[in-house]
Amino acid sequence: MKRKLILFIALILSISSISAACVNETFGENNNPTEAEDIEVHFIDVGQADSILIKSSTGKNMLIDAGNNDDEDLIYSYLKDKGIETLDVVVGTHPHEDHIGGLDTVINNFDVKKIYMPKVSNNTKTFEDVLLATKNKGLKITTPTSGDNFELGNAKCTMLAPNSSTYDELNNYSIVIKLEYEDTSFLFTGDAEGISEQEMLNKGYDLSADVLKVGHHGSESSTTELFLEAVSPKHAVIMVGKDNSYGHPHDIILQRLKENNINVYRTDKSETIIATTDGKDITIDKNALDIELNNKSDIIIQNIDKKSETVTIKNNSSEDVNLDSWKIISIKGNQEYTFPAYTLKAGESVTVASGDEEGDLIWGQGNIWNNSESDPGELYDNLGNLIHRYED
Ligand SMILES: [Zn+2]
Repeated sequence: MKRKLILFIALILSISSISAACVNETFGENNNPTEAEDIEVHFIDVGQADSILIKSSTGKNMLIDAGNNDDEDLIYSYLKDKGIETLDVVVGTHPHEDHIGGLDTVINNFDVKKIYMPKVSNNTKTFEDVLLATKNKGLKITTPTSGDNFELGNAKCTMLAPNSSTYDELNNYSIVIKLEYEDTSFLFTGDAEGISEQEMLNKGYDLSADVLKVGHHGSESSTTELFLEAVSPKHAVIMVGKDNSYGHPHDIILQRLKENNINVYRTDKSETIIATTDGKDITIDKNALDIELNNKSDIIIQNIDKKSETVTIKNNSSEDVNLDSWKIISIKGNQEYTFPAYTLKAGESVTVASGDEEGDLIWGQGNIWNNSESDPGELYDNLGNLIHRYED
């Protein structure tokens, strides 16, 4: 008898979860519709990872990502400390550890009403832990459809990505959510890269937002120029770990934000950052940072064309630089190129070619980059200081 009852409840739960996957849902009611609502967006400092708590004064809460596995205790304590018991919506933007690491703990310890994750799996224990926690709680994962929206208190949340069913790169499966509350808006991009950004542009979505959670920890793979132009944020938050090994955020992105006069906030510099909106104005509890490029020098690897075997080095500074004894390293093959005496004039670039390609300078006859998917390049000065790291 008891067993039948449990089965029956499980059936009801799964049916309700299927029907709840549709659009225009409301998570709870605003008990005091006439009372002004404040929405706080907490960009929780979880190092080189993402975790964002959206807490509405009407008692509706959403968590986007839950840091690395090691951040479980931190996130648990943070949420408890803020008086969170219920999470109306939990989003695992994509199944990389730095986004879903603490999700199992969150699911196990809070009253989670709804979980959104993209339709893609990852063959890791971290991912399996999330599935197990979800199952144990009798919850179902909902796969969002781009364009769907739901309400969180008085705020409207719209899913803007992913827009394709398959991608080569897990990052591009990232669920992207735009939150709008009266005159204010936020865009949460997970680790969505250029491909996904272009898809959102192609869809003709209104991407404009006051606050942009910068995609993929400020990597060069995201925050493409056209996308940034469309979002046109006043404020940008980069969630990034101190001295992370990826070289995030990339100077090119910092420079791009600077050129667009966007206020930049970083969790590696300011720790947890809280933005509060009353629907009219957004206040942020930390000061915007002066853009400090990671590299003392403004000499960067502007591009590595892995197909045509050409590296482009650009001098963004206002002074000429002698590249004598500087080095370019291909990380994957651990190949090294040492510059001859060569003056790279201010504002100009130089190409270093390998294989049969033509360039200003020649690395050698052998192919270095081999059109490989992932092969970062690093630029070192004559004293062996890392000047710039290029990834794509
Ligand atoms: Zn990430």
